[in-house]
Amino acid sequence: GTRSYSFMLRTKNPFGKVPNQLYLVMDELADQFGIGTLRLTTRQTFQLHGVLKKDLKTVMSTIIRNMGSTLGACGDLNRNVLAPAAPYARKDYKFAQETAENIAALLTPQSGFYFDMWVDGEKITTDEPAEVVKARNDNSHGTNFPDSPEPIYGTQFLPRKFKIAVTVPTDNSVDIFTNDIGVVVISNEEGEPQGFNLYVGGGMGRTHRLETTFARMSEPLGYVPKEDILYAIKAIVVTQRENGRRDDRKYSRMKYLVSSWGIEKFRSVVEQYYGKKFEPIRELPEWEFKSYLGWQKQGDGGWFCGLHVDNGRIGGNMKKTLREIIGKYNLNVCLTPNQNIILCDIRNAWKRPITKALAQGGFLEPKHVDTLNITAMACPALPLCPLAITEAERGIPDILKRTRAVFDKVGLKYNESLVIRVTGCPNGCARPYMAELGLVGDGPNSYQIWLGGTPNQTSIARTFMNKVKVQDLEKVFEPLFYYWKRKRQSKESFGDFTNRVGFEKLQEWVDKWD
Ligand code: SF4
Repeated sequence: GTRSYSFMLRTKNPFGKVPNQLYLVMDELADQFGIGTLRLTTRQTFQLHGVLKKDLKTVMSTIIRNMGSTLGACGDLNRNVLAPAAPYARKDYKFAQETAENIAALLTPQSGFYFDMWVDGEKITTDEPAEVVKARNDNSHGTNFPDSPEPIYGTQFLPRKFKIAVTVPTDNSVDIFTNDIGVVVISNEEGEPQGFNLYVGGGMGRTHRLETTFARMSEPLGYVPKEDILYAIKAIVVTQRENGRRDDRKYSRMKYLVSSWGIEKFRSVVEQYYGKKFEPIRELPEWEFKSYLGWQKQGDGGWFCGLHVDNGRIGGNMKKTLREIIGKYNLNVCLTPNQNIILCDIRNAWKRPITKALAQGGFLEPKHVDTLNITAMACPALPLCPLAITEAERGIPDILKRTRAVFDKVGLKYNESLVIRVTGCPNGCARPYMAELGLVGDGPNSYQIWLGGTPNQTSIARTFMNKVKVQDLEKVFEPLFYYWKRKRQSKESFGDFTNRVGFEKLQEWVDKWD
């Protein structure tokens, strides 16, 4: 098959930022060397599928020379750092994005290996803020390998991949609790950023039929003043570097360390490397899911326009339309953690022609997308991911259509919705364990059903049923939605409903349904 000969390549873009030139290059590379589509991921990056081995170097060097990077996009080190993709001119948003960039720079591999391999050793320099260089090389509290080309990672790197997200209060567009480290900007009453709340030990991946592996939400570690953030991040990473399990990859994510030690012990070890005590975590308002779809003011005179991308796959007419608009107006774009795209920095005078071009293709909200689809996500799965057990991206359009049909049947209105996420294996790339209805492939054409996530991704789902054949989904969906419609409290979300009623009762309803 194509599997052994073609590659999947992932870029790295802190907070999903893609400069104009890089977008246009990626668009071209997808045609020239990929399968003609661009895939946006749940970590605000591009994936190019189907790149042949002989073309890998051409593709990589083209990306690197056009302000892109794939450095740290895979492997046992820090992955792309998430932050809200919306280009708001607000101080806290800008600060969250800048912090994401600084953390990404702090944890970027330092040895020249990457450049040796892809651009024949040519040094493509990026300007790093002095504070980042200083924090990386600081050897206080034994956090560094001072003589190594990799001051933070050393020769062994980390036990496993590592994920960080940054956001501002109320904006949970980044699924903050699913990361190894969650970083939340705390501002004073004047809106001036002062510091950060830190959360640790989240992660989605698990293994079927192995209860000792689990999806987990991060928990509060503490508050740090803004000038200490890079040192605190480094102390956490080093705690995992030194103590995370390396004997079994199934248990080597930091969540297992936090879980087995407990947060108190974890905090005290991190504090030794950090050299200070964490302050108490600051109170936060309720979280909300933000999609940023449609037109919005940036707050600096410009506009942005968020576009829904089905399963994050940009192809066909949408790809052509986007290339024309992005090319013509020199637009920068941002990719969201929900696999959508935002066109940024649009001037007043351009708004009308861009609206017209987008409307012609049918890409403007809300007309062309079912409300169920707005929050839905699926991972690439078959035939693109070697770990896939069953369909996800190719299967979800039909699953959403059938869900809508069940909604109609039980009398749920068009504006009713819930968060559905589908993955082809328990690794959980589309974060199904935070969904109100998660489908996780557990056999050919069969899924585990997970319930109990909430619309704002603040509670973790649990397994409701195993091995439900894809053709039998209605047998579970119908009773669940029927009783949600009839027995819910005013405005109760599906996730809150399933948690309140309890799985025993839900199971009873499913079992006796005909
Ligand atoms: Fe592949 Fe599994 Fe991730 Fe889907 S969840 S992309 S099947 S590893």
